[in-house]
Amino acid sequence: MTYDSIFSAAQEAFLFYKNVSGKEKAAFLETLAEILEAHRAEIVPLAVRESNLPEGRINGELGRTTGQIRLFANLVKEGSWVEATIDPADPNRSPLPKADIRRFLTPLGPVVVFGASNFPLAFSTAGGDTISALASGCPVIYKAHPAHPETSQKVADCIHEAIVKSGLPSALFTHIEGGIAEGQALVKHHLAKAVAFTGSHVGGKALFDLANQREEPIPVYAEMGSVNPIFTFPKKLENEIVPLAKAFIGSLTLGVGQFCTNPGLIFVPKEHAIAFENAIADELNDIASAPMLHPGIAQAYYDSIQYLQSREELRWVKVADPKHLINGSTALAEIKAKDWLSDAVFQKEVFGAFAMMVVYKSEDELLEIAKKLHGQLTITVWAEAEELQNQLFLLNLLEEKCGRLLFKGVPTGVEVGYAMQHGGPYPSTTAPNSTSVGAHAIKRFVRPIAFQDMPQDLLPDALRDGNPLGIWRMVNGAYIK
Ligand code: NAP
Repeated sequence: MTYDSIFSAAQEAFLFYKNVSGKEKAAFLETLAEILEAHRAEIVPLAVRESNLPEGRINGELGRTTGQIRLFANLVKEGSWVEATIDPADPNRSPLPKADIRRFLTPLGPVVVFGASNFPLAFSTAGGDTISALASGCPVIYKAHPAHPETSQKVADCIHEAIVKSGLPSALFTHIEGGIAEGQALVKHHLAKAVAFTGSHVGGKALFDLANQREEPIPVYAEMGSVNPIFTFPKKLENEIVPLAKAFIGSLTLGVGQFCTNPGLIFVPKEHAIAFENAIADELNDIASAPMLHPGIAQAYYDSIQYLQSREELRWVKVADPKHLINGSTALAEIKAKDWLSDAVFQKEVFGAFAMMVVYKSEDELLEIAKKLHGQLTITVWAEAEELQNQLFLLNLLEEKCGRLLFKGVPTGVEVGYAMQHGGPYPSTTAPNSTSVGAHAIKRFVRPIAFQDMPQDLLPDALRDGNPLGIWRMVNGAYIK
């Protein structure tokens, strides 16, 4: 099939599917979750073999994937997510009568989704991007990640089984294999209406630029990772140095550090730097190296470390051992805040179990750091409550720099829920007003439309008088059912 015929079929499927009720879309998604679970015994070994991730992790990831699918099923079954808003007409208003205006969210059309290497299930074929697009009413043209082709094809087969069982058009989902040229051709196709991507900064930015160079530019929701800094305060470190060191290293090295939320940067006050460094060095020694997702990622990891080793501002606490290239071994370097501030290269993500410990001398330095910090998916603050009393200015700055601000725990382990925000200011993403995890991810694939004085029988159910769907709507400025 040519890309023209794939997109034409997807467009045709769209014109039908966008009008399918939320309840039917939910039934389709629930069927898909059941089919994926029924094929667990085939999917899990494939994903383990292709990703080098352990079986326990992949089993958990499949559960996360089906849980995510059910969350979107519940969302569209309930239906209020379309933000139905009604300003009724007032023909007697003076000096001019007021028109009847009704607004809601409508799906965009065919969406291109790129799978991620580090989540072969939850951020790939039937992952959050695909499912939120399908839940919104958009068909998906999916570019498989070449690191797990068989897993991807197997999950694609499950999606097709669910489509057939639900009596929906097969062009609702198309699985494409290929490389950079194929991915770019998809983004350039005139019938593509949006792009979702999780991966490298280089890849995400290239696709964003490409989409903006089209005759009709389209939104690109690229999640390109971040260094997820942790800001530590003296009293907190003094009180909990060992548990915090354990928590930090546990989060840093989880999945061989191959999470977009792993904390690659930690700011530590000078008076506790040596004690904290010793505590984390103890923890690091217990972590064995393990295979990374694919040789390219391992190579990129060691290339980045090698570059940083050439920088004299860094003092190495633990050096990565590139002896067995596919294995990612942990690494830790220390740098003074004034040196870190002098070169933005120290803010670049090193994808893997490497962290930079930045030693700060004063609160002024901390403020300077917060001002210079690039956009992040997450920022974590470890402080006793009383230490934050006078830090409203700092917290205000940090709020500007991230999508999720944590005051407890670690940034890895992104909960899939209604309130989750997994996104952030550039360069962590190309769309800071969006999330790629959680219920609000659906908003990426819709646009508002208002109907003015449209006859009742032509209006979508969500906007009709009498509220036939029983959803929450804003009528004359007040939320009612
Ligand atoms: P990647 O290189 O960005 O690739 C992701 C997907 O995008 C692949 O399907 C790739 O196609 C495609 N792609 C990349 N550059 C492209 C371009 N210029 N034009 C069109 N398509 C393009 O990511 P990866 O292979 O998963 O890992 C490489 C690096 O990405 C890692 O070392 C890490 O730094 C980062 N990463 C970040 C996250 C995150 O959560 N943000 C997750 C995983 C990886 P091909 O593979 O066919 O070329």
